[in-house]
Amino acid sequence: MIKQTVNNTEVIVHSGYEEIGGNLVEIRYKKNRIILDLGISFKQFKKFYEWPFRTPKDADELIELGIVPKIEGLFAKTENDINAIFISHAHRDHSELTQYIPSGTNLFMGETCEIILRTRRDVYNIKYKIDLKNGVTKFRTGFEIPIDEITVHPIHVDHSIPGAYSYIIRTPDATILYTGDYRLHGGKVCERSLTEDMIIKAKEYGKIDLFITEGTRFSDCSTDREIDVLARLNKILSSFDGTILLEYSYLDIDRYESIIEAAVNWNKNILFDYRHLIFLYRLYKEDSGLTKKISLDAYKDMLYIYVKNRGRLRRKVREIIEEMENEGYNIIETLQDVPTQNVILEGFNLYIQDIFKTGPERCLAIHSTSEPYDEEIEISYEKLNNWLKALNAPSYRIHSSGHIHPLDLIKVYKEILPKDTLVIHSEYPNQVKEMLTKNVIK
Ligand SMILES: [Zn+2]
Repeated sequence: MIKQTVNNTEVIVHSGYEEIGGNLVEIRYKKNRIILDLGISFKQFKKFYEWPFRTPKDADELIELGIVPKIEGLFAKTENDINAIFISHAHRDHSELTQYIPSGTNLFMGETCEIILRTRRDVYNIKYKIDLKNGVTKFRTGFEIPIDEITVHPIHVDHSIPGAYSYIIRTPDATILYTGDYRLHGGKVCERSLTEDMIIKAKEYGKIDLFITEGTRFSDCSTDREIDVLARLNKILSSFDGTILLEYSYLDIDRYESIIEAAVNWNKNILFDYRHLIFLYRLYKEDSGLTKKISLDAYKDMLYIYVKNRGRLRRKVREIIEEMENEGYNIIETLQDVPTQNVILEGFNLYIQDIFKTGPERCLAIHSTSEPYDEEIEISYEKLNNWLKALNAPSYRIHSSGHIHPLDLIKVYKEILPKDTLVIHSEYPNQVKEMLTKNVIK
């Protein structure tokens, strides 16, 4: 935990300092308390749990194990209550603890974020206390949300998940910019970076007293953008006609679009794990801003959805799959029904034993996430690599990060010129801060 003050405004980083993920930040002005993000620390989480096989029983267990800090009025009502909670985006290291907050909590998030959390709840049978669909206040970029004496302004940013926001928070004596997770290079879906809007808005406010920025990337950085990812995918897909095993962050719509484009270019079919495609399907159906941007309906012929043990799935999930089947999507219940040539098996880590059993002659793997940091904590790379060796499959890493790289961070900093900076979501907060201040002569 780290505390910083600007006049009478206090900023408390309950978790997410000196580590990547687990964002949980409180802004206090006298009796007013707001929380930014409800993330979980993967580092701590992984010591005790293996998702989805062993998951926490409740918030008390997480607090007792020291994974989640004890914060008055967060999971149980007290007199010193929290006025509102704002979630920046739906990655689990920013939103995981939403399931434990009591109903009646003032919870705010973007429309897209709510759709993703609700889908995750349905697919993984997560028990929420709060009614996501009706009990959450949804905002769009540019809103001004007054919370007693504090005003919160969400402004969209670019990240490797749709619906990511930064916040400008104004108390009577401080203006704070909280970036959430972001990057300055645009994606594929939207070439101009949405993050430009955050910079514009921050400059409109005049002085930013405190710039709370993520600093995920520091060592071994690359400047690769989504367009570079597409070029590399094209290269590999053009020269290999065996089975391609692919894992990517399935909430990254830009990556999905690159994969589809490369697959169309080289005549490949793609088998998706049903758990992953359901998210895209829901966003496509429910998020009017994304319907035109997600290549789904028109690509049904090349998409296969792998649903094993369909009869044993929960009713809610079965219903979504039936809906997709009725709309003409190809549902595959056994891998034997998939052609072994010219096929991409997405989410292969979830059914690697089935692949091992069917024994495709020639496989090659593409890791399209950043190792070792996986925002959805789905993958254990060590085990995965052992399976790939057992399949005699070489692997390539093709990735462009959702996080800002140091040179771009300096650029943002130079534009905003904040009075003070607090680096979170970073293993090296002091080094990142020093890097920023030393590169700017005020
Ligand atoms: Zn994050």
